[in-house]
Amino acid sequence: MSTPAFDRPVRVRFAPSPTGPLHMGGVRTAFYNWLFAKRHGGTFILRIEDTDRTRFVDGAEAYIEDALTWCGISPEESPTQPGQHGPYRQSERGNIYAPLVQQLLESGHAYKAWDTPEEIQARRDSAESSGTPFQYDAASRGSMRNSLSLSKDDVAQLNAAEAPFVVRFKMPANEAVTFTDAIRDAVTIDTAVLDDKVLMKADGLPTYHLANVVDDHFMEISHVIRGEEWLPSAPLHQLLYRAFDWTPPTFAHLPLILKPAGNGKLSKRDGDKGGFPVFPLRWVDPATGNESNGYRESGYLPEAFMNMLLLLGWNPGTEQELFSLEEAATAFDLNRVIKSGARFNPDKAKWFNEQHLRSTPVSDLVPNAQALFATEGADFNADQTSAILEMMLERIAFLEDLKDATWLHTSPTEFNAKLIKKRWKDDTDGILSELAKELRTVTPFEADPIEAAFKAFLERKELGFGQVLLPFRIALTGEGGGPSMFAFAAFLGKEITLDRLNKGMARIAQQRTKS
Ligand code: GLU
Repeated sequence: MSTPAFDRPVRVRFAPSPTGPLHMGGVRTAFYNWLFAKRHGGTFILRIEDTDRTRFVDGAEAYIEDALTWCGISPEESPTQPGQHGPYRQSERGNIYAPLVQQLLESGHAYKAWDTPEEIQARRDSAESSGTPFQYDAASRGSMRNSLSLSKDDVAQLNAAEAPFVVRFKMPANEAVTFTDAIRDAVTIDTAVLDDKVLMKADGLPTYHLANVVDDHFMEISHVIRGEEWLPSAPLHQLLYRAFDWTPPTFAHLPLILKPAGNGKLSKRDGDKGGFPVFPLRWVDPATGNESNGYRESGYLPEAFMNMLLLLGWNPGTEQELFSLEEAATAFDLNRVIKSGARFNPDKAKWFNEQHLRSTPVSDLVPNAQALFATEGADFNADQTSAILEMMLERIAFLEDLKDATWLHTSPTEFNAKLIKKRWKDDTDGILSELAKELRTVTPFEADPIEAAFKAFLERKELGFGQVLLPFRIALTGEGGGPSMFAFAAFLGKEITLDRLNKGMARIAQQRTKS
């Protein structure tokens, strides 16, 4: 596939605010940035936007880095791995914003405003009582306390008194701002609906809008790929680039991830209600101690989680559904990202895990599976664990599902009563006893010779497969379904197989007399 040429090196960034755990929508934004960088030989950057100290949450930044690492999309430049464009934490970039704010004040693109929060609230209240919501904008700024409305003397006095002020952007009164969004094509917004956003707060710190644009410029960001919720801010950002006389990056606003029912944005509450995670990793809220489940802790493979996110807003234009990260990075481009919301389907998420589990080399799964059995008190070595995985991988969606199959390591004590009632006939015990004799002669006790002996036995006795195999399975596992019984018997070994068969038959006999 040919790669479109860009007029500057591709540098993209994921710019979360550390206000809590990363929602899966945030992971998808990071992922699409990562994919775009990989596809175009670019650089993927993590910038932490932490200028709003009131919303700062302890541990959130570390969580974000851990999550990206687990997902396999670590940035090339980040707070913990700085490149040439640092610092990568906005709060540490402090001294670059003030001169730029001064520049905007001098060029007339911004102005100082001394209105107190109480004064603004009073205006809001009185506007509301007359039925027209208040907005600090071209229409109202003349009647507020700012460097455009006050006399030169008043302004000089306020400056001399060092009265606290904010700096606001002077939004043009009536202008159609148009820009090309890589996903949505031409976007036009009339500035008449936009307000004079605060660029610098009274504490001297920049707001999101200013810091975001300035940082993107100095970090030489070529493409801003972010969530749809930032689309309303994009015209202001365009105007800021114009005011600074900088070339804006290309913008691309990704669609929302919707609830499974399709009605609105997917939230943490939907996850709690539907019993599925919305965060990549487990998160414990430091303020409340409340715990939220993660995909990792729910047993998802990172590649399955990422495959699911890949198709939640993008499609390859073919029938292909299964992608590794590398395959995704070759296929991905912004022109196949959808504009409308992408509906999340928790069942499909499980399906992706099932598929990726099956295509993972067994040897990669052995350590985790072994650890899992150890928690069940089963002490399987690597070869045994690998044999179990070979038998079971087609039958599970999560490694954790192995826990349900306790018969893998322990003789069953319960036997499926419904099946026994239907399928255990009066001659079944006799047949199984004969089968036991047959099995005793099999050497080596491996799947193929066991199967051959089993088949020869059926033929000799003129019996059907189901007549013998199902009772054999119930006696050994207690259940009606599972892996190949020849492989499982081989795994147990001759003695344990025959022992389980005898004990199983005895218990089933008891069970049948009782019912
Ligand atoms: N800090 C913003 C956020 O939390 C970044 C938005 C952007 O990517 O421009 O999502």
